[in-house]
Amino acid sequence: MDERFRSIVDSLKDTQDISKEDLAYLLECDGSDNEYLFEAARGVAETHFHKEIYLRGLIEFSNYCRNNCYYCGIRGGNLKAERYRLSEEEILSCCEIGEKIGFKTFVLQSGEDPYYTDELITDLIKKIKTAHPDCAVTLSIGEKSHESYQKFFDAGADRYLLRHETANEEHYSKLHPKSMSGAERKKCLFDLKKIGYQVGCGIMVGTPCQTVENIYEDIVFMKELQPHMIGIGPFIAHKDTPFKDEPDGSVDRTLRLLAILRLIFPKVLLPATTALGTADAMGREKGILAGANVMMPNLSPSNVRKKYLLYDGKICTGEEAAECNACLRGRVERIGFHVADSRGDHPDFIKQ
Ligand code: SAH
Repeated sequence: MDERFRSIVDSLKDTQDISKEDLAYLLECDGSDNEYLFEAARGVAETHFHKEIYLRGLIEFSNYCRNNCYYCGIRGGNLKAERYRLSEEEILSCCEIGEKIGFKTFVLQSGEDPYYTDELITDLIKKIKTAHPDCAVTLSIGEKSHESYQKFFDAGADRYLLRHETANEEHYSKLHPKSMSGAERKKCLFDLKKIGYQVGCGIMVGTPCQTVENIYEDIVFMKELQPHMIGIGPFIAHKDTPFKDEPDGSVDRTLRLLAILRLIFPKVLLPATTALGTADAMGREKGILAGANVMMPNLSPSNVRKKYLLYDGKICTGEEAAECNACLRGRVERIGFHVADSRGDHPDFIKQ
């Protein structure tokens, strides 16, 4: 085994820290010693989460979007995307089904769709929390004002996912139109954290122009933010976006980065994402074996799933919620883990 690889992993595990040079080494060397890194990460995950995996039911309630991110299949500029919105009744019925099959978290995700006013969102949150008081509500609906975030929180929302996408402003500008800024996105994350949400940031691995240096800056940013959750998955090209001809991100690099993040942030919630499962049929299992501890099965009604296409080839678009649930539980058990019964809050999180 490569001695430098071993010593970097050992030191990372002891200090929860890594230099830029060592990060480059772990991400760029050949993968022959990956298992040493993954085993270390798995061990740390096991210390804090035992062998429990938290499931979150994902409800993709609208694919309308006012933004134009160059990588995303539901960008406003994609005139080929067939748009849809779920009604309040449809969303509540997804939660109903979700609770029956054992989910304790609902993630409401959408494009940035101006149709859903703050009032509609707060009403929805209240209705979900009234019907399912033991469940957590996670929002993933993009950039909003501090005031809106506060209203949603007061209505009962528990968590918020907003990937920062890249911490480097120049790289951010290569992935987004001029109307968007990385600084604004970071501000949103700090606002959310201050309000009292459990907050998730994150990046795609292998977006065009991403360097190891950028990933190092992402880690520096995450250390400052101290998120409760970090969502990472490989970039996967979508045929109707400006990035249609760009190469997909590497599964191997995503797995190494998952493991590195587990070692730097021992208690963070770390999903094995759908993008990882799309890029590799066993990607989610490999993610768990590299230190991830969350999975997000699709709870959206099956007739809209094919329309919420952020990238090509997305898995689980032909199934019903119950099938997705059964499939994921099976996947978790076959690798020796089990699905948790709890809400799956961050280990240190105490609601004010
Ligand atoms: N509008 C919400 C939800 C965005 S979709 C928001 O702004 O947060 C959730 C995540 O999917 C994005 O943050 C992005 O990191 C990821 N994503 C989008 N397009 C992708 C692609 N082509 N490949 C992989 N992941 C993608």
